Amino acid sequence: MEKVLLLGDEAIALGALSAGISGCYAYPGTPSTEIMEYIQQSPLAEKGRVHREWSTNEKTAMEEALGMSYAGKRTLVCMKHVGLNVAADPFVNSAITGVNGGLVVLVADDPQMHSSQNEQDTRYYARFAHIPLLEPSSQQEAYDMMGYAFDLSEKVKLPVLVRVTTRLAHSRADLLPTEPRPQNSLSIPENSRQFILLPANARENFKKLLVTEKEITEASNQSIYNSYEEAAGTSKKGIIASGIAGNYVREVLGGRSSEYDVLYIREYPLPARLVKKIFNRNTSVLLVEEGGPFIEEMLTGPLMDSLSVHGRLDGTLPRTGELTPELVAKALDIEMPFMNPEIKTLRPRPPQLCKGCPHIDSYNFLNEVVHNHEGSRVFSDIGCYTLGALPPYSAIHTCVDMGASITMAKGASDAGIAHAIAVIGDSTFTHSGMTGLLDAVYENTNVTVIILDNETTGMTGQQISMATGRLEQIAAGLGVDPAHIRIVIPLPKQHADNVKVLEEELAYDGVSVIIARRACVHLKRKM
Ligand code: SF4
Repeated sequence: MEKVLLLGDEAIALGALSAGISGCYAYPGTPSTEIMEYIQQSPLAEKGRVHREWSTNEKTAMEEALGMSYAGKRTLVCMKHVGLNVAADPFVNSAITGVNGGLVVLVADDPQMHSSQNEQDTRYYARFAHIPLLEPSSQQEAYDMMGYAFDLSEKVKLPVLVRVTTRLAHSRADLLPTEPRPQNSLSIPENSRQFILLPANARENFKKLLVTEKEITEASNQSIYNSYEEAAGTSKKGIIASGIAGNYVREVLGGRSSEYDVLYIREYPLPARLVKKIFNRNTSVLLVEEGGPFIEEMLTGPLMDSLSVHGRLDGTLPRTGELTPELVAKALDIEMPFMNPEIKTLRPRPPQLCKGCPHIDSYNFLNEVVHNHEGSRVFSDIGCYTLGALPPYSAIHTCVDMGASITMAKGASDAGIAHAIAVIGDSTFTHSGMTGLLDAVYENTNVTVIILDNETTGMTGQQISMATGRLEQIAAGLGVDPAHIRIVIPLPKQHADNVKVLEEELAYDGVSVIIARRACVHLKRKM
């Protein structure tokens, strides 16, 4: 086959298709979005009738993927790192049920928080769930690892987590694909109790899981993805590098690799034999890993000061943010004359709402009303409209996680805030806002919910929103009084009318939903 130039995300997508998936389930989230988008447009997926629709949120995606695996088919489920928090319940339980058809959970982490609320490191989740984890260091490896991951999943009968980070997901490189493998036939699990997590079955499954953990640790010790490169002479300082951080180490060392023993880790559980070897041969070890001090903490534990281990914990590398070759070079005390100093002079560009964005008009009428009501508070959610926090709008007071605007507004109202206003997008509302609204309706809490309906999932690139055309019905179905479900059009000429509607609903002692409906300007261009 011919070489192709692909983004890391696209390499993962093609790798999964080549591995014979029958379905991909996902919720859009940077930096993972392009995986599903590639599969949706792929002729190979079309030909194989691969299921490839977005899901309402990461939890439903994970459960749908588990259902397809139950039926014997290979399935990919994708999300960004914070999405795994949403999917954590079925994700952890899928390790207890085990799988039938291969199940790969692809999670894209975002160190440096380029477009995320936190820097969490997904590797902790794999360890927590006792399942294998793969961490590619290049686009070719990301492609190859998908086939390996599905084979491993079916061999050990467990889901396999593949973790990438922004830098790999969003950069391009050549890779050589292989002939695609056929999809699995339908089959049902051999053990009929496996997927019924009654306590008696779950206890039995958990014991088996711990036995399997020994098997997957041994597989990791022998894995082609964990490689040990010995120094030519005597090595005093060893390096352990994981995933894409291994590339930074290679780049910095260049021809000097003979000075150091280097252990490259791309498969977990931690390959204990290889780790012991590097400690036996060196007086100190530098940990280079993208994300948290995951391996470093496992190696040092409470004996942190008595082992000569350096990395993010002792400040040899920064505790937060994305790694760079320069940071690795500094940690190894190596000069890098070839780095381009101009990169440092690039001016940062803060994000902002697009020109003509409907949210601008919504924040204009919201701000006018809020200024008339001292003590009112605006609880926002995750999406383009979060940018309303920045000047000139400065329109929101909180933004924590998907769906938290309505529930936080409810809590604040319960506490006595007179005007608690929640702002949420249409897609975020169906993702995890609906259940919060149900709480408010159940107690007839005094909250005003403004759903900014741009008829799409704008922030991640205009993917489908499950709410399009039916927000009023959903709100009514959840029990909101139809007299207090109001539709407004966020346009400058409607400003006075919109102010009036919001004033009226703030005066109402109960749950109001105002739907501010106008399409994202990019959606119009797409149509
Ligand atoms: S992508 Fe659409 S919704 Fe998001 S800021 Fe731009 S115009 Fe507004």
